[in-house]
Amino acid sequence: MTDVAPADDAVTTNDEIVDELRSWLGENWDPDLTVAEWWERLGLSGWGAPNLPENAYGRGLARNDAVRVQNEIAEFGALGAPAGLGLLLAAPTIASHGTQEQIDLYVREIVTGQKAWCQLFSEPGAGSDLAGLTARAVEDGDEWVVNGQKVWTSFGHTADLAMLIARTAPELPKHQGITWFSIDMHQPGIEVRPLREMTGHALFNEVFLSDARVPTSAIIGGRNNGWAVANTTLANERAGLGTGGGSAGAGAASPGTISGHLEKRAGDFVTPVAKKKRAQTRAGAGSGGSSAKLLIDLAKGNGSIADATIRQDLVRLHTLGELGKFNNLRLKAARKAGRDVPGMANLSKLAMGDTMRLTRDLGLRIVGASGMLHAYTDDQRPAIDAATGNPFLAAVTGMALWAQGPPIYGGTDQIQRNIVGERVLGLPKEPNNDKTMPFSDLPKNA
Ligand SMILES: Cc1cc2nc3c(=O)[nH]c(=O)nc-3n(C[C@H](O)[C@H](O)[C@H](O)COP(=O)(O)OP(=O)(O)OC[C@H]3O[C@@H](n4cnc5c(N)ncnc54)[C@H](O)[C@@H]3O)c2cc1C
Repeated sequence: MTDVAPADDAVTTNDEIVDELRSWLGENWDPDLTVAEWWERLGLSGWGAPNLPENAYGRGLARNDAVRVQNEIAEFGALGAPAGLGLLLAAPTIASHGTQEQIDLYVREIVTGQKAWCQLFSEPGAGSDLAGLTARAVEDGDEWVVNGQKVWTSFGHTADLAMLIARTAPELPKHQGITWFSIDMHQPGIEVRPLREMTGHALFNEVFLSDARVPTSAIIGGRNNGWAVANTTLANERAGLGTGGGSAGAGAASPGTISGHLEKRAGDFVTPVAKKKRAQTRAGAGSGGSSAKLLIDLAKGNGSIADATIRQDLVRLHTLGELGKFNNLRLKAARKAGRDVPGMANLSKLAMGDTMRLTRDLGLRIVGASGMLHAYTDDQRPAIDAATGNPFLAAVTGMALWAQGPPIYGGTDQIQRNIVGERVLGLPKEPNNDKTMPFSDLPKNA
């Protein structure tokens, strides 16, 4: 979706790893297995989440190499790992902060696709200022009782478990009284209400917690230490956005008990169309990104390539893709040498926002008036395709309508700039006393 994609095509990864993976796939991939059976094999082999440490069902690979592994699985024609927030966020968080018992309970079910996860962080009054959250968890024997409201919960309607952060000690300063829980979504105290977006989809939800219960054993990283644990989750979110995410190369099957895919035939989720799409995406990423490639083809096809301003913007889009690629290479080289490039994840995310906006504006200019038509449901699509004669229109309008989301989630553009200003450039923070004053005494929004 974005041109700030991993530069893995250009990166020489450890060929031995790829050889080992290919031979493992040759021996183990069987399209007639059920999705659950295949994910059990893939997840327990360490190839499903190779960026996780070995004691957490991974292989300890760098993120770029892990994305390469996922692409290899897709190229081989096998079903990829169970994509979603479990693999992307919950697993690395629990691998970092959980006990071995918690890793064996939660991470195992994530890498084998048995359970799907969502992230119960944002609240109506706590998004950018996440540490201002007010959902309360109160101890009751060996359980906690949770009350509050969350919002923007992606995949909340298909989740079995959630990463919940809740206030457990309001008498402490705001960053200190928060705890990170793994909470079971299948309980009477949790109500999930889908929110429909302008894309036509309902990706995210409002979630109401009314006397929801969670055992003390489900606390990850210790009570009142949730801010540190949440920062690991958020760091993985930003890193995932900057490098193409943890789900690259995955097939179309969804994890968890609600999607209903686990008992289906694994091979049915690896269609020739899906393979072709992935091949196109890879080809596009090599020349500045899949969206640039798509838009260049469209502009050539309908003659708008003759417009010099369109050509100029296509080159800008290609350039942004190349910059992302080289920045990824720079970061990889720095890490190999034991250094870091401070702020790179934030800058990559900002560049991704720019790329999305340019893709939106340029795409709509190229398709012209037909850009006002969008298939909000799958059954509207054939009529629009037939009327416009352009089977790629849905990709352009879909990208245009979705372009508003990525610059917001994982920290808005303004928040990324604040982080770069304060933590990378050393500029002074806004003065406030929220590090010292008890949360319960801080002034709240009316
Ligand atoms: C597609 C999508 C999926 C999401 N999925 C999830 C999910 O699964 N789970 C979850 O918990 N959350 C999710 N979110 C929520 C997301 O993390 C928040 O929307 C985001 O953190 C911003 O918070 P907010 O919406 O409350 O905006 P606010 O924080 O109210 O910000 C409003 C505006 O004020 C600006 N602003 C705020 N504070 C500052 C400041 N200090 N300096 C400068 N400008 C500032 C912001 O940049 C923004 O422009 C998702 C969001 C989107 C768009």
